[in-house]
Amino acid sequence: MFDIRKKNAFVCDLDGTLFMGPDPIKPAVDFVIENTRSGRFSYYYLTNNTSKCPEEYMKKISGAAIPVTPEQILTPLITLESYIRGKGCRSVYLIASEKVTAHMAAQLADAGVRFEFDPERNELIALTYDKELTYEKLRKACQLWNGRNVPPSPMCPIRPANQTPVDFVATHPDTCCPSEHGPIPDIGGMMRFLETTNGMKPSHVFGKPSPTLLAPVLAKFKPEEIAVVGDRLYTDKAIADNAGVDFVCVLSGETTREDLDRYAGTPPAAVVDTFDEVEAIRG
Ligand SMILES: [Mg+2]
Repeated sequence: MFDIRKKNAFVCDLDGTLFMGPDPIKPAVDFVIENTRSGRFSYYYLTNNTSKCPEEYMKKISGAAIPVTPEQILTPLITLESYIRGKGCRSVYLIASEKVTAHMAAQLADAGVRFEFDPERNELIALTYDKELTYEKLRKACQLWNGRNVPPSPMCPIRPANQTPVDFVATHPDTCCPSEHGPIPDIGGMMRFLETTNGMKPSHVFGKPSPTLLAPVLAKFKPEEIAVVGDRLYTDKAIADNAGVDFVCVLSGETTREDLDRYAGTPPAAVVDTFDEVEAIRG
């Protein structure tokens, strides 16, 4: 049974939970501001969207008058950074916008990582939600994969000698991005494009619902002290379930009461119209 008195940290989805597009959901945002100022709860902000840098989310959150520090932003770009460090990669072919590439290069400057296209040196292909994607970037990814991971054949005649396979990761799995014009392409379509071309598939997909994104929170709090708050069952609830923490479903975004009635999985720990209403729930 959900009990707010047992919680110390909330991991908040943004769109549909604290914001509706550019606009703050006022009661939810006021609740966060009040409890951030008093220090009653720690808040983290969760997004799968790797077309934006963490600084842009800080701007959006602080623009709603919520005090925020960089450590509170959880994006798969942080997971990608840890992955590159953990593997000791020095040469990465990163498919990302210019500003995201500059952000990653700055984050990993101390580790001597080069973000480049170099078939002789590249150890990793990393795909983000690249809104500056071009045919050329997709072609280069296939070229790297073909040269290292595909046995020589009439279709793929070129394979340099003594090359180890190149690793391939994607920052998140979203098949589409919601917009005021309906669903528009996200990273899922980009992955499908590559897979259709030559069978290349990522070894890891970070972001919701992978619990790796919650690692910084789980390092500081016990699972029972944490709740994920969000409006999507298949991403926000899934990451909470995968990390073994409570899920608070808000009805201020995508999920409706009818969706919950039809939902076959375990029910959310709490269901509220807007985030601030968790205040009243005491086991
Ligand atoms: Mg959402």
